Amino acid sequence: KLSRRLQKIAEYVTEGSRIADIGSDHAMLPVYLLQSNKCPSGIAGELNEGPYEAARKQAADAGLSKRLAVRQGDGLAVLQPGEADTVTIAGMGGSLMSDILEAGAQAGKLSGVQELVLQPNVGEDTVRRWLRHHGWYLAEESILEEDGKIYEIMRAVQTPDAAELNIELYDSSFLKAKLNEGEGTAVLFQMGPHLLRRPTAVLRHKWRLELEKQERICKQLAQSELAESERKLHQFRAEMNVTREVL
Ligand code: SAM
Repeated sequence: KLSRRLQKIAEYVTEGSRIADIGSDHAMLPVYLLQSNKCPSGIAGELNEGPYEAARKQAADAGLSKRLAVRQGDGLAVLQPGEADTVTIAGMGGSLMSDILEAGAQAGKLSGVQELVLQPNVGEDTVRRWLRHHGWYLAEESILEEDGKIYEIMRAVQTPDAAELNIELYDSSFLKAKLNEGEGTAVLFQMGPHLLRRPTAVLRHKWRLELEKQERICKQLAQSELAESERKLHQFRAEMNVTREVL
């Protein structure tokens, strides 16, 4: 049975799309999508030997070797332009994810891709910034808690009106009562523009934990006598105030 995290990712994939799952590990996600016939065919990409072998075995055991191509390589290098409609990347840090997207975009691997479903483990803001600056519209995002971990899942789409939609999405005027001029956009990248418009208990929980962590860092910075620490402390405190305000 699929974890709730992978289930949510699967739910975001548009029915009928040819999928490419990058960093697929055991290929659980593409196997599920093909077995349930939500997707006709797929590609599972893996950089590392162990997970690559595991993915091949999983595809073979499921009798899907013909519909699911398992390929070894770095990021989107395993993909030929036009081969996939949806790319999923899950379970890695946001900066690695953005690097993979950037290298892929530069190599033309995203041409023809209509949809990205992404689940960064950390550094969600880096992913949102990448999407925003590369003409992808962040259409949906959700947050869930499973086995004591909190996950954010995003669905971004290629659409001609992405630029306009993104301007609306990252317009922070709905937070105006809570923030000073200029504080809005950064917090939307950090906490998620959709998530912040409809904050859930899980979102609040995530950021309360984050504030506790930052509080501990502040205590350490306060003990240091370096001028740089003091500057950082001020910046941290300002950021924490913004987080508290919008929660
Ligand atoms: N996507 C699966 C999931 O969400 O359950 C597996 C996540 S697993 C924690 C991350 C996988 O990404 C590992 O199997 C790792 O080998 C793979 N990986 C890391 N860097 C990669 C890269 N540059 N290209 C392809 N795969 C990569």
